[in-house]
Amino acid sequence: MFCADDTIVALATPPGRGGLAVVRLSGPQARRIAEALLVPATPLEPRRATLVRVAGGEGVVDEAIATFFAGPASYTGEDVVEFSVHGSPVVVGEVVAAAVAAGARLARGGEFTLRAFLNGRLDLTRAEAVRDLVEATTPAQARMALDQLQGTLAERIGEIESGLFDLTAKLEASGDFPEEGYHFISRQETLTAVREARGRIDALLAESRRGRLLREGLTVAIAGRPNVGKSTLFNRLAGVERAIVTAVPGTTRDLLTEAVMLSGVRMTLVDTAGVRATADLVEREGVRRAEQAIAAADVVLVVLDASSPLTAADRDLLEATASSARAVVLNKSDLAPAWETRELTGAGVAAPDSIAISAKQGTGIEDMIRSIATLCGLANIGELPHISNARQIELLGRSTEALTRLEDMLVSGGLNVPEELVLADIRVASEVLQEVTGERTTDELLDAIFSRFCIGK
Ligand code: GDP
Repeated sequence: MFCADDTIVALATPPGRGGLAVVRLSGPQARRIAEALLVPATPLEPRRATLVRVAGGEGVVDEAIATFFAGPASYTGEDVVEFSVHGSPVVVGEVVAAAVAAGARLARGGEFTLRAFLNGRLDLTRAEAVRDLVEATTPAQARMALDQLQGTLAERIGEIESGLFDLTAKLEASGDFPEEGYHFISRQETLTAVREARGRIDALLAESRRGRLLREGLTVAIAGRPNVGKSTLFNRLAGVERAIVTAVPGTTRDLLTEAVMLSGVRMTLVDTAGVRATADLVEREGVRRAEQAIAAADVVLVVLDASSPLTAADRDLLEATASSARAVVLNKSDLAPAWETRELTGAGVAAPDSIAISAKQGTGIEDMIRSIATLCGLANIGELPHISNARQIELLGRSTEALTRLEDMLVSGGLNVPEELVLADIRVASEVLQEVTGERTTDELLDAIFSRFCIGK
């Protein structure tokens, strides 16, 4: 399915007008095809940026810089030529068409990086990091992707895997000489090695939630009974007038969402309809969706109105969200308070845990944002998590599962656990680790990963 003996071409920079655009060629004919476009004929030497004139169908189309990277020491591992042309869609179109006329094929999305992977230039975690880096929308996302691109995760996984490999070798050697009754490794040592591998995987997984939240952003549901100021708060955070702010209770019937960057973290805000028991069908649907949104959110902002007495609906919501990651927000603090924060203690909230804000006037918002970040362990981004991608997290989870099963078996079965059973679980654990880095892979998996890249990457 993946054939890499042809030469591919694509625009590697974003489409549109700009100072420069880069057209990239990769494959065995890259140099020949590139040289075929040059007028006058100019030989391209490896790693030397050369000023050239590039011809399209109708003669010279641009003056450009051509750089030839000889494989295997190139991005894709193949011969690569990059043309830096003027950033004009017309020029780019002509150069790409001329390359195709000279024998290149238009690259598919992610094909350059796929070739880099197939040629062993990148493992799968680094290839995924390329996409994450390109798509990052916050500095933390970009730093995390770069860390992964530099191979931190691949290295950690490689260490765990080589530990398991050693263990397998010793166990297999012991199994080869059963009659001698000699064991290259004792059951206790086996157990210790398994525990160590599991501990390392668990350490990676422990930081993965933070990693996922940084990578994908977090979902923040704004909940509260009608009229407490949810829409006003939503608009304040979103910085735009989107939710309809009204003084009539129960009019925000649908869920509104907006992605924003707050304190360096991407957050998707969800404004829920007023959660209250109601007979109105449309509104009941809104309430149902609100409850779902609360259940699905990473953080719930429970908004209360400090200027009107706490109601049964407020208490119900506090109770319903008691086990969620939530911030209790006392809105309308610009008005005279109608109740005291110690009333919250009865509703299961320690008074200092609530945050006074005025959505209307914009006070207390910074504190509130900080406490959202703190709730998710993102207040001090500091040391970045090494793992953030759902695919990788899922595989590590399967690996640690197999090792835990094995640990339990060794602890309860001791000396009597047959070698084959021990080996079987270690094999499962290592195979899924190899899927993380792409040492083991399938065409479907590669297709799923690389088809999400854009063309030219
Ligand atoms: P929702 O039903 O919870 O979405 O509430 P809205 O955002 O529609 O607000 C209901 C009413 O409260 C509107 O008249 C808002 O202007 C008002 N309101 C919202 N936040 C504040 C605030 O911080 N201070 C004051 N004084 N009024 C507010």
